[in-house]
Amino acid sequence: MNLVDVLNGVWNQILEITSLFVLPDWGGLIGLLPVLILLGLVAPFLTFVGLGTVIYLLRKPRVRLTYEEGPRIAEIGPGGEPVFPAGLVYCRRDGLIYPSGTNRCERCHDRLAVTCPMCGLGRPAHIDTCTNCGLVLKVKSRSVVVQASAGPKAGGAAAA
Ligand SMILES: [Zn+2]
Ligand SMILES: [Zn+2]
Repeated sequence: MNLVDVLNGVWNQILEITSLFVLPDWGGLIGLLPVLILLGLVAPFLTFVGLGTVIYLLRKPRVRLTYEEGPRIAEIGPGGEPVFPAGLVYCRRDGLIYPSGTNRCERCHDRLAVTCPMCGLGRPAHIDTCTNCGLVLKVKSRSVVVQASAGPKAGGAAAA
């Protein structure tokens, strides 16, 4: 008995075992054919729609996240100094404006500062109550903060 015979024997056994599983199913499969065709047509469609939805859902928040996450560079005012809008958290050293809720600068690891929207006094960002005028800056909603800074004071420069 050489290797080829052994392989042939193994192959025949595989065919026999497979036929045991495959042959009895044919009747059922043919009965299921309309369903299978339907699935073959509907499944790709559903997959396409599902994928489209997933891609849409993944891309939509991503646009918003890139806006809200990470620091952005502060605009440079006429005096060459970066301008920090009141109510927004910033790092004076790097001229970066951070999303609300951030306490430390990603670059220099300094404590971030914030300018009070009411009285223009600067303070560390982790203190949410102004020590000067008592305004509590709850920075949950970004839109509120942006509205509060609509009439900015003469920049954060007067704050320190
Ligand atoms: Zn910094
Ligand atoms: Zn204040």
